[in-house]
Amino acid sequence: MQGKLTILGSGTSQGVPVIGCDCRVCSSSDKRDKRTRTSVLIHINGENHVIDTGPDFRTQMLRENIQSLKSVIFTHEHKDHIAGLDDIRPFNFKEKRSMNVYASDRVREALLREYHYIFADKKYPGVPNVNLSIIENEKFEIDTGIEIEPIEVLHYKLPVFGFRIGDITYITDAKTISEEEKEKIKGSNILIINALRREPHMSHFNLDEALAFIHEVNPNHAYLTHISHLFGTHTEIEKELPSHVHMAYDGLSLDFKY
Ligand SMILES: [Zn+2]
Ligand SMILES: [Zn+2]
Ligand SMILES: [Zn+2]
Repeated sequence: MQGKLTILGSGTSQGVPVIGCDCRVCSSSDKRDKRTRTSVLIHINGENHVIDTGPDFRTQMLRENIQSLKSVIFTHEHKDHIAGLDDIRPFNFKEKRSMNVYASDRVREALLREYHYIFADKKYPGVPNVNLSIIENEKFEIDTGIEIEPIEVLHYKLPVFGFRIGDITYITDAKTISEEEKEKIKGSNILIINALRREPHMSHFNLDEALAFIHEVNPNHAYLTHISHLFGTHTEIEKELPSHVHMAYDGLSLDFKY
């Protein structure tokens, strides 16, 4: 069966352009240099699912004209990945169903703090309606027969989930990946992986680390995401990449098999 993954956002936590910045990248007129916060849409089996709901979730849903959403799968609890959760309400109202949310136990605790009103015993009318499932580092189903395999990576010291669905793997906010987890990625046709910038960073792959990782797990095609304005423009970086590696950009769609 064929699924489609759409890059909703490809920018790091501040997005690109950065507020108040007049650098070459932030002033670029290339649409691909307008990067909202990192997230992807998975269209599979006739339903839409998102990985993360960052601060740009609402504008991403409007931009891609998303009419229906079945679930939200969280990678980790940093604000650039969870800040948009309140905006699932239009889907709750329109579709008259609760949103399936998949998160690790640690992410669940963060959601309870940040969105206490969603999980209150006595709910204020109109708050988001969430059906929360706890995921661990083992395969889970988001629809009948549709399996997702988590891949646990380290973001400095914080465990973050990447996800493999069929022959596509999506990993954001990684700095270290164990040999055991790398095995789960091998054989992917497409790998989407974070690459913040050229200079090293404490909690994110830089370009060299991302390229070395791509070389090691050897997908047919790879796309870089979670991009900082310090990296360069889309066109500049694209020229330097090996022929099977590309920059992701907001709105890019990729077909995959499952
Ligand atoms: Zn800038
Ligand atoms: Zn993060
Ligand atoms: Zn992030």
